[in-house]
Amino acid sequence: MNRQEEFVLRTIEERDIRFVRLWFTDVLGTLKSVAVAPAELEGAFAEGIGFDGSAIEGLMRVYEADMLAKPDPTTFQILPWRGESPGTARMFCDLLMPDGTPSVADPRHVLRRALGRAADLGFTFYTHPEIEFFLLEQQRGPRGRPVPVDDAGYFDHVPHGTGHDFRRAAITMLESMGISVEFSHHEGAPGQNEIDLRYADALSTADNIMTFRTVIKEVALTQGIYATFMPKPFSEHPGSGMHTHLSLFEGDSNAFYEPGAPYQLSKTGRQFIAGLLRHGAEIAAVTNQWVNSYKRLWGGGEAPAHLTWGHNNRSALVRVPMHKPSKGQSTRIEVRSLDSACNPYLAYAVLLGAGLKGIEEGYDLPPESEDDVWSLTDAERRAMGIKPLPASLGRALEVMEESELVAELLGEHVFDFFLRNKRQEWRDYRHEISRFELDRYLTRL
Ligand code: GLN
Ligand code: MG
Ligand code: MG
Ligand code: MG
Repeated sequence: MNRQEEFVLRTIEERDIRFVRLWFTDVLGTLKSVAVAPAELEGAFAEGIGFDGSAIEGLMRVYEADMLAKPDPTTFQILPWRGESPGTARMFCDLLMPDGTPSVADPRHVLRRALGRAADLGFTFYTHPEIEFFLLEQQRGPRGRPVPVDDAGYFDHVPHGTGHDFRRAAITMLESMGISVEFSHHEGAPGQNEIDLRYADALSTADNIMTFRTVIKEVALTQGIYATFMPKPFSEHPGSGMHTHLSLFEGDSNAFYEPGAPYQLSKTGRQFIAGLLRHGAEIAAVTNQWVNSYKRLWGGGEAPAHLTWGHNNRSALVRVPMHKPSKGQSTRIEVRSLDSACNPYLAYAVLLGAGLKGIEEGYDLPPESEDDVWSLTDAERRAMGIKPLPASLGRALEVMEESELVAELLGEHVFDFFLRNKRQEWRDYRHEISRFELDRYLTRL
């Protein structure tokens, strides 16, 4: 046993922890949990705990044997909402094959592999997500419509508002689990909130996002409301994005930073953005994985629908935020496509992979777009060489299917499973007759 594993066992004794939940994530980004007694942990650290992967999305038994979940002791945390004594704790797991090799179906492994590739080039990858979500009444409104808990807007301070108490409770809980929160505020739509996590290495951030979603849902339930990360619950309001700020470090120095360069952005930074733009359509099915995701992208409300970049341009896919010259080490880029319902491990793996491809191949960065891309006509956009993101999940899958880069980044197993699962989702959706069609056609035709 190593020191961290010993620390976990000691803490479990001292804090009277009776249940340890082993957490992992399926290919679609759903959190999975299996509780074990503390006595099982020594074995779990040594070889993992066996479970039947065949019932879990994307895991399937590759061989006729069970999978193993091996807890990562660096992720040990006590779950505050489960009470003090006896307590409950959790650890994220890496999934292994029976012979101890990493499971190709484990999203955490997909990200680890991408991070390993970055490390080979001398880079560490940091991310900082801004997570948007809606707070809704538990009771639905007329015609099954969701009902937001307030009627406020961007940065509104709502006296006695549910959002305030909610954010305070949620942030206290996140901090007590070692997840630092940088900002929080009411977002643009009624009932919509945003909480921004402090930047960390991408694997920790992805773990933190999984924890975040659980905490937000737990806290909402204790307040008699519920929280949703659905990308676009209301057609008339903006959807919930998960803008993520990305940076690469070489040792202690920010590889995107170059004093004196335009926007202080280094060649590495420019090539990284070029990679994100060139491969943005191929990776869209991963960063925006649901039928509903494309309603957000194409529904305005500051969501990007075109493969452009810009300085403080909120219609662009990639935005380069302003920096004070003294803050060179915080140089970063903001990717605005991903939504709050993506699988963060896979999404960060493909973003990193696309950016690194730009560096490896030395892509040129196209000129920035200063205009609000939405206000241009189709013809203007064509003349400027501005390409759209896929307009639907179906289209995104067609593009992804042809992508060698995404196949390589996800690995064959996850790539195939993902495409199969998502094609089915798209087919199911296409069979539906929507309210739009009934309202529009039934009496008119
Ligand atoms: N909600 C918007 C989106 O879907 C973002 C709004 C903002 O943070 N400026 O991306
Ligand atoms: Mg924000
Ligand atoms: Mg926001
Ligand atoms: Mg933002």
